Amino acid sequence: MNRPRKTGEHQARKRFGQNFLVDHNIIEKIVSAIAPAPGQNLIEIGPGQGAITGPVLEKCPHLNVVELDRDLVPILQKKFQEYPDFHIHQGDALKTDFSQFYQEGKPLRIIGNLPYNISTPLMFHLLSFSGQIRDMYFMLQKEVVTRLAAAPRDKNYGRLSVMVQYYCRVQPLFQVPPSAFRPAPKVESAIVRLLPYPEPPYPADDLQLLSRLVRACFQQRRKTMRNTLKHMLEVEQLEQLDLDLTRRPETLSVEDFVHLSNQIGSLL
Ligand code: SAM
Repeated sequence: MNRPRKTGEHQARKRFGQNFLVDHNIIEKIVSAIAPAPGQNLIEIGPGQGAITGPVLEKCPHLNVVELDRDLVPILQKKFQEYPDFHIHQGDALKTDFSQFYQEGKPLRIIGNLPYNISTPLMFHLLSFSGQIRDMYFMLQKEVVTRLAAAPRDKNYGRLSVMVQYYCRVQPLFQVPPSAFRPAPKVESAIVRLLPYPEPPYPADDLQLLSRLVRACFQQRRKTMRNTLKHMLEVEQLEQLDLDLTRRPETLSVEDFVHLSNQIGSLL
Protein backbone atom coordinates (compact mmCIF):
# COMPACT_ATOMS: atom_id res chain seq x y z
CA MET A 1 0.00 0.00 0.00
CA ASN A 2 1.24 3.51 -0.84
CA ARG A 3 1.58 5.55 2.32
CA PRO A 4 0.70 9.21 1.94
CA ARG A 5 3.72 11.49 2.41
CA LYS A 6 3.54 13.74 5.42
CA THR A 7 3.82 17.47 4.69
CA GLY A 8 3.33 19.61 7.80
CA GLU A 9 -0.08 19.03 9.41
CA HIS A 10 -1.58 17.26 6.42
CA GLN A 11 -0.81 14.01 4.62
CA ALA A 12 -0.47 14.63 0.88
CA ARG A 13 -3.06 12.55 -0.99
CA LYS A 14 -2.15 11.15 -4.35
CA ARG A 15 -5.77 10.70 -5.43
CA PHE A 16 -6.34 14.45 -5.10
CA GLY A 17 -3.16 15.21 -7.07
CA GLN A 18 -1.59 16.83 -4.03
CA ASN A 19 1.91 18.12 -4.67
CA PHE A 20 2.37 21.09 -2.40
CA LEU A 21 4.59 24.03 -3.37
CA VAL A 22 7.41 24.56 -0.88
CA ASP A 23 9.89 26.71 -2.84
CA HIS A 24 9.43 30.29 -1.66
CA ASN A 25 11.22 31.83 -4.64
CA ILE A 26 8.88 30.04 -7.03
CA ILE A 27 5.83 31.01 -4.95
CA GLU A 28 6.97 34.65 -5.07
CA LYS A 29 7.51 34.45 -8.82
CA ILE A 30 4.02 33.02 -9.35
CA VAL A 31 2.36 35.63 -7.14
CA SER A 32 4.23 38.49 -8.79
CA ALA A 33 3.12 37.18 -12.25
CA ILE A 34 -0.49 37.14 -11.00
CA ALA A 35 -0.07 40.65 -9.49
CA PRO A 36 -3.11 40.53 -7.19
CA ALA A 37 -4.47 43.91 -6.07
CA PRO A 38 -7.18 44.98 -3.61
CA GLY A 39 -10.69 44.95 -5.01
CA GLN A 40 -10.05 42.24 -7.60
CA ASN A 41 -12.20 39.13 -7.95
CA LEU A 42 -9.72 36.30 -7.38
CA ILE A 43 -10.59 32.62 -7.20
CA GLU A 44 -8.07 29.93 -6.39
CA ILE A 45 -8.68 26.32 -7.38
CA GLY A 46 -7.07 23.76 -5.06
CA PRO A 47 -5.48 25.98 -2.39
CA GLY A 48 -4.08 22.93 -0.62
CA GLN A 49 -2.34 24.14 2.52
CA GLY A 50 -2.30 27.72 1.28
CA ALA A 51 1.17 28.07 -0.27
CA ILE A 52 -0.08 30.54 -2.88
CA THR A 53 -3.21 31.56 -0.94
CA GLY A 54 -1.27 33.32 1.84
CA PRO A 55 0.81 35.67 -0.32
CA VAL A 56 -2.22 36.36 -2.56
CA LEU A 57 -4.37 37.27 0.47
CA GLU A 58 -1.69 39.73 1.62
CA LYS A 59 -2.20 41.62 -1.64
CA CYS A 60 -5.91 41.02 -2.20
CA PRO A 61 -7.78 40.21 1.03
CA HIS A 62 -10.94 39.18 -0.81
CA LEU A 63 -10.46 35.63 -2.09
CA ASN A 64 -12.70 32.64 -2.88
CA VAL A 65 -11.12 29.21 -2.99
CA VAL A 66 -12.49 25.87 -4.22
CA GLU A 67 -10.95 22.84 -2.51
CA LEU A 68 -12.07 19.22 -2.83
CA ASP A 69 -10.27 17.76 0.19
CA ARG A 70 -12.49 18.24 3.28
CA ASP A 71 -9.54 17.72 5.61
CA LEU A 72 -7.87 20.86 4.31
CA VAL A 73 -10.82 23.10 5.15
CA PRO A 74 -10.13 23.48 8.92
CA ILE A 75 -6.41 23.95 8.21
CA LEU A 76 -7.15 26.78 5.77
CA GLN A 77 -9.79 28.30 8.06
CA LYS A 78 -7.33 28.43 10.94
CA LYS A 79 -4.43 29.70 8.87
CA PHE A 80 -6.38 32.56 7.31
CA GLN A 81 -8.86 33.36 10.09
CA GLU A 82 -7.84 37.01 10.18
CA TYR A 83 -9.25 37.50 6.65
CA PRO A 84 -13.06 37.97 6.85
CA ASP A 85 -13.33 38.03 3.04
CA PHE A 86 -11.60 34.68 2.60
CA HIS A 87 -14.24 32.11 1.60
CA ILE A 88 -13.71 28.38 1.25
CA HIS A 89 -16.01 26.43 -1.07
CA GLN A 90 -15.49 22.77 -0.34
CA GLY A 91 -16.25 20.82 -3.51
CA ASP A 92 -15.17 19.69 -6.93
CA ALA A 93 -13.93 22.47 -9.24
CA LEU A 94 -15.11 20.37 -12.20
CA LYS A 95 -18.68 20.77 -10.96
CA THR A 96 -18.39 24.33 -9.67
CA ASP A 97 -20.51 27.02 -11.27
CA PHE A 98 -17.87 29.75 -11.53
CA SER A 99 -20.48 32.28 -12.66
CA GLN A 100 -21.58 32.45 -8.99
CA PHE A 101 -18.41 34.47 -8.30
CA TYR A 102 -18.90 36.93 -11.16
CA GLN A 103 -19.83 40.51 -10.31
CA GLU A 104 -20.61 43.25 -12.82
CA GLY A 105 -17.40 45.12 -13.58
CA LYS A 106 -15.32 42.56 -11.67
CA PRO A 107 -14.39 39.76 -14.06
CA LEU A 108 -12.91 36.63 -12.54
CA ARG A 109 -9.20 36.10 -12.07
CA ILE A 110 -8.76 32.34 -11.67
CA ILE A 111 -5.52 30.87 -10.37
CA GLY A 112 -4.34 27.46 -9.26
CA ASN A 113 -1.63 24.90 -8.97
CA LEU A 114 -3.94 22.36 -10.53
CA PRO A 115 -4.21 18.67 -9.83
CA TYR A 116 -2.64 17.27 -13.00
CA ASN A 117 -5.11 14.40 -13.31
CA ILE A 118 -8.03 16.79 -13.95
CA SER A 119 -6.28 19.66 -15.70
CA THR A 120 -7.65 19.04 -19.21
CA PRO A 121 -11.35 18.55 -18.26
CA LEU A 122 -11.02 21.48 -15.85
CA MET A 123 -9.69 23.67 -18.63
CA PHE A 124 -12.72 22.79 -20.81
CA HIS A 125 -15.08 23.41 -17.89
CA LEU A 126 -13.53 26.85 -17.23
CA LEU A 127 -13.74 27.82 -20.90
CA SER A 128 -17.52 27.65 -20.62
CA PHE A 129 -17.26 30.73 -18.32
CA SER A 130 -14.67 32.50 -20.49
CA GLY A 131 -16.93 35.53 -21.07
CA GLN A 132 -16.78 36.26 -17.33
CA ILE A 133 -13.05 35.68 -16.89
CA ARG A 134 -10.35 38.36 -17.09
CA ASP A 135 -7.38 36.01 -16.83
CA MET A 136 -6.19 32.63 -15.53
CA TYR A 137 -2.82 31.53 -14.16
CA PHE A 138 -2.22 27.83 -13.84
CA MET A 139 0.57 25.51 -12.86
CA LEU A 140 0.30 22.51 -15.17
CA GLN A 141 2.47 19.71 -16.40
CA LYS A 142 4.98 21.33 -18.76
CA GLU A 143 3.78 19.02 -21.52
CA VAL A 144 0.21 20.33 -21.15
CA VAL A 145 1.43 23.95 -21.36
CA THR A 146 3.32 23.02 -24.55
CA ARG A 147 0.12 21.54 -25.99
CA LEU A 148 -1.93 24.59 -24.99
CA ALA A 149 0.46 26.94 -26.77
CA ALA A 150 1.27 24.77 -29.82
CA ALA A 151 0.89 26.16 -33.35
CA PRO A 152 -0.30 24.30 -36.46
CA ARG A 153 2.19 21.68 -37.79
CA ASP A 154 3.72 21.29 -34.33
CA LYS A 155 3.49 17.70 -33.09
CA ASN A 156 1.91 18.98 -29.87
CA TYR A 157 -0.86 20.81 -31.73
CA GLY A 158 -4.21 19.15 -31.10
CA ARG A 159 -7.75 19.47 -29.78
CA LEU A 160 -6.62 21.19 -26.57
CA SER A 161 -4.56 23.78 -28.50
CA VAL A 162 -7.39 24.61 -30.92
CA MET A 163 -10.20 24.80 -28.38
CA VAL A 164 -8.25 26.80 -25.79
CA GLN A 165 -6.81 29.15 -28.44
CA TYR A 166 -10.33 29.67 -29.79
CA TYR A 167 -11.19 31.38 -26.49
CA CYS A 168 -7.88 32.65 -25.12
CA ARG A 169 -4.46 34.01 -25.79
CA VAL A 170 -2.02 31.49 -24.32
CA GLN A 171 1.21 32.75 -22.75
CA PRO A 172 3.60 30.19 -21.25
CA LEU A 173 5.46 32.02 -18.46
CA PHE A 174 8.14 29.86 -16.80
CA GLN A 175 9.05 26.31 -15.84
CA VAL A 176 9.00 24.87 -12.34
CA PRO A 177 11.20 21.91 -11.40
CA PRO A 178 9.90 18.89 -9.39
CA SER A 179 12.12 19.99 -6.46
CA ALA A 180 9.76 22.94 -5.82
CA PHE A 181 7.06 20.55 -4.50
CA ARG A 182 6.52 18.08 -1.66
CA PRO A 183 6.10 15.34 -2.60
CA ALA A 184 8.03 15.99 -5.82
CA PRO A 185 6.05 15.07 -8.96
CA LYS A 186 7.74 12.90 -11.60
CA VAL A 187 7.35 15.55 -14.29
CA GLU A 188 8.41 19.13 -14.98
CA SER A 189 5.75 21.78 -14.47
CA ALA A 190 5.15 25.19 -15.98
CA ILE A 191 3.07 28.28 -15.34
CA VAL A 192 0.77 29.50 -18.08
CA ARG A 193 -1.31 32.66 -18.40
CA LEU A 194 -4.59 32.41 -20.31
CA LEU A 195 -6.23 35.64 -21.45
CA PRO A 196 -9.79 35.10 -22.72
CA TYR A 197 -10.72 37.33 -25.66
CA PRO A 198 -13.67 39.65 -24.97
CA GLU A 199 -15.06 38.11 -28.20
CA PRO A 200 -13.39 35.19 -30.02
CA PRO A 201 -11.50 36.65 -33.00
CA TYR A 202 -13.01 33.98 -35.28
CA PRO A 203 -16.51 33.32 -33.92
CA ALA A 204 -18.06 29.92 -34.58
CA ASP A 205 -21.77 29.82 -35.54
CA ASP A 206 -22.15 26.55 -33.65
CA LEU A 207 -19.68 25.81 -30.86
CA GLN A 208 -20.80 22.21 -30.46
CA LEU A 209 -20.20 21.58 -34.13
CA LEU A 210 -16.74 23.18 -33.92
CA SER A 211 -15.92 21.03 -30.91
CA ARG A 212 -17.20 17.86 -32.64
CA LEU A 213 -15.23 18.68 -35.79
CA VAL A 214 -11.98 19.35 -33.92
CA ARG A 215 -12.38 16.16 -31.89
CA ALA A 216 -13.00 14.09 -35.04
CA CYS A 217 -10.01 15.66 -36.82
CA PHE A 218 -7.51 14.96 -34.04
CA GLN A 219 -8.76 11.44 -33.41
CA GLN A 220 -7.25 10.72 -36.81
CA ARG A 221 -4.60 13.39 -37.21
CA ARG A 222 -2.64 11.52 -39.90
CA LYS A 223 -5.66 11.15 -42.18
CA THR A 224 -6.42 13.70 -44.88
CA MET A 225 -9.31 16.09 -44.34
CA ARG A 226 -11.21 14.21 -47.06
CA ASN A 227 -11.00 10.96 -45.11
CA THR A 228 -11.90 12.66 -41.84
CA LEU A 229 -14.85 14.60 -43.21
CA LYS A 230 -16.39 11.83 -45.30
CA HIS A 231 -18.06 10.58 -42.10
CA MET A 232 -19.76 13.95 -41.59
CA LEU A 233 -20.68 14.98 -45.14
CA GLU A 234 -21.88 13.57 -48.47
CA VAL A 235 -19.36 13.49 -51.34
CA GLU A 236 -21.10 16.39 -53.15
CA GLN A 237 -21.04 18.48 -49.96
CA LEU A 238 -17.33 17.74 -49.52
CA GLU A 239 -16.62 19.17 -52.95
CA GLN A 240 -18.43 22.42 -52.07
CA LEU A 241 -16.04 23.19 -49.20
CA ASP A 242 -13.52 25.99 -49.47
CA LEU A 243 -10.74 23.65 -48.31
CA ASP A 244 -7.92 21.65 -49.87
CA LEU A 245 -9.12 18.17 -48.90
CA THR A 246 -5.61 16.70 -49.16
CA ARG A 247 -4.52 18.70 -46.09
CA ARG A 248 -4.06 17.02 -42.73
CA PRO A 249 -5.92 18.34 -39.66
CA GLU A 250 -2.70 19.38 -37.91
CA THR A 251 -2.05 21.98 -40.65
CA LEU A 252 -5.33 23.85 -40.01
CA SER A 253 -5.22 27.02 -37.91
CA VAL A 254 -7.95 27.96 -35.40
CA GLU A 255 -9.32 30.33 -38.05
CA ASP A 256 -9.36 27.47 -40.61
CA PHE A 257 -11.25 25.20 -38.20
CA VAL A 258 -13.84 27.88 -37.47
CA HIS A 259 -14.25 28.71 -41.16
CA LEU A 260 -14.69 25.01 -41.95
CA SER A 261 -17.12 24.44 -39.10
CA ASN A 262 -19.24 27.42 -40.22
CA GLN A 263 -19.28 26.07 -43.80
CA ILE A 264 -20.27 22.59 -42.61
CA GLY A 265 -23.02 24.13 -40.47
CA SER A 266 -24.49 25.83 -43.52
CA LEU A 267 -24.47 22.53 -45.46
CA LEU A 268 -26.04 20.30 -42.81
N1 SAM B 1 -2.17 25.16 -4.17
C1 SAM B 1 -1.47 24.20 -3.32
C2 SAM B 1 0.02 24.36 -3.50
O1 SAM B 1 0.42 24.97 -4.52
O2 SAM B 1 0.76 23.90 -2.66
C3 SAM B 1 -1.91 22.77 -3.63
C4 SAM B 1 -1.72 22.29 -5.04
S1 SAM B 1 -2.05 20.57 -5.29
C5 SAM B 1 -1.14 20.29 -6.79
C6 SAM B 1 -3.72 20.50 -5.95
C7 SAM B 1 -4.83 20.87 -4.98
O3 SAM B 1 -6.10 20.73 -5.64
C8 SAM B 1 -4.92 19.99 -3.75
O4 SAM B 1 -5.13 20.79 -2.61
C9 SAM B 1 -6.13 19.10 -4.00
O5 SAM B 1 -6.78 18.64 -2.83
C10 SAM B 1 -7.03 20.02 -4.81
N2 SAM B 1 -7.97 19.33 -5.69
C11 SAM B 1 -7.83 18.12 -6.30
N3 SAM B 1 -8.88 17.84 -7.08
C12 SAM B 1 -9.71 18.91 -6.98
C13 SAM B 1 -10.98 19.23 -7.55
N4 SAM B 1 -11.59 18.39 -8.39
N5 SAM B 1 -11.56 20.40 -7.21
C14 SAM B 1 -10.94 21.28 -6.35
N6 SAM B 1 -9.75 21.02 -5.78
C15 SAM B 1 -9.14 19.87 -6.10
